[in-house]
Amino acid sequence: SAGAAAEAEAVASISCSGHGRAFLDGFIENGTPVCECNACYGGLDCSQLLPNCVADADRMSYDYSDNSYISQELEKNIRKLHAIVGNAVTDGRYIVFGAGSTQLLNAAVYALSMNMSSPAKVVAEKPFYPVYKEQTEFFKAKQFEFHGDASLLRNGTSNTNENVIEFVASPNNPDGNLKKAVLEEGPYVKTIHDYAYYWPHYTAIPAPADEDVMIFTMSKLTGHAGSRFGWGIVKDKNVYENMLKYKSLADSGTSKDTQLRALKLIKVVLEDGGRGIFNFAYRTMSGRWTKLKHVLSLSKRFKLQEIPLLFCNYSRTVKGASPAFAWLKCMKEEDSNCYEVLHHEANILGRKGSSFNAENRYVRLSLVKSADDFNLLMDRFKELVSKEEQIQ
Ligand code: PMP
Repeated sequence: SAGAAAEAEAVASISCSGHGRAFLDGFIENGTPVCECNACYGGLDCSQLLPNCVADADRMSYDYSDNSYISQELEKNIRKLHAIVGNAVTDGRYIVFGAGSTQLLNAAVYALSMNMSSPAKVVAEKPFYPVYKEQTEFFKAKQFEFHGDASLLRNGTSNTNENVIEFVASPNNPDGNLKKAVLEEGPYVKTIHDYAYYWPHYTAIPAPADEDVMIFTMSKLTGHAGSRFGWGIVKDKNVYENMLKYKSLADSGTSKDTQLRALKLIKVVLEDGGRGIFNFAYRTMSGRWTKLKHVLSLSKRFKLQEIPLLFCNYSRTVKGASPAFAWLKCMKEEDSNCYEVLHHEANILGRKGSSFNAENRYVRLSLVKSADDFNLLMDRFKELVSKEEQIQ
């Protein structure tokens, strides 16, 4: 309430000794506010003047993450989250924040290409998330250019000095499968691993990802896509510094309000070791998948992608599929435009296969929408499939 907040602020101003301020909203621990000290002051209550401190008459409160309390706490909690979920190695790695992971995908292309002696060809194996192509083309620069399907380079890159940057989403958008890079990393080949969906609601977690450049996002973890928060886990210091440089020019650092929001969300996720959110979300997603699969098992016309059973180190069980998207194939010769078939015959709106550099015989259907949206989708499919049975 407003009264409690005012009271907490009053406590904070006393306990942080006038040389700092406390964080409200969950940052009062055991009745004591956690203080963020003004520059040149330290100690638990910010009462100690630090020796030889420069009188900074230069800049305001932008996020220079080295000395922002929120950023440090956020980084600490992100590392804790990955350790508990077991989906990424963070020890000895740098963490860079982004306005969603979208911004970091291009920051990574920029940073990796800066270390290359000739312009990089940016590739992804089809079907791939369209933003890899769209963004790389939009930001096209002297040092990088979108080249197309990674599998076209599969044979031959290793023995040429061609510089390549490959995007790999795992689980993949659109087909939900865990994926490895097509090209082997080496002096000329670098990979950007997009782990937007590498969380226990969408997939089994067989092992912690241990790659040089790994990108995560709040959008698919808790669903807060509108807060625009993502993070990159980066092994190489130089690549990390180039990503920071990109950030400093693109937006002078990730919004502190967004960081505060992300910190609160991650702390809530961590309260019960993630059990609450991950168990609920896995149950929801696998339930939807099972229902969809059941309805389509009666069809000869439509086929869903296969996702194998896998042991999940987080839940300590073998887990069935629970993807964020159905990647539906129209099997009949004449249904070469699957998007149109669904749209016209069943009033279902998907996304065309061609958006993912794939055939239009495929359509992507989002399963991460509301229960009402999903139920309507199921009703439409039931009707469509029952028409098929009547014809036979
Ligand atoms: N990567 C993949 C594979 C995605 O599907 C998405 C969201 N559609 C993103 C990245 C971008 O997410 P955001 O910018 O919200 O973090």
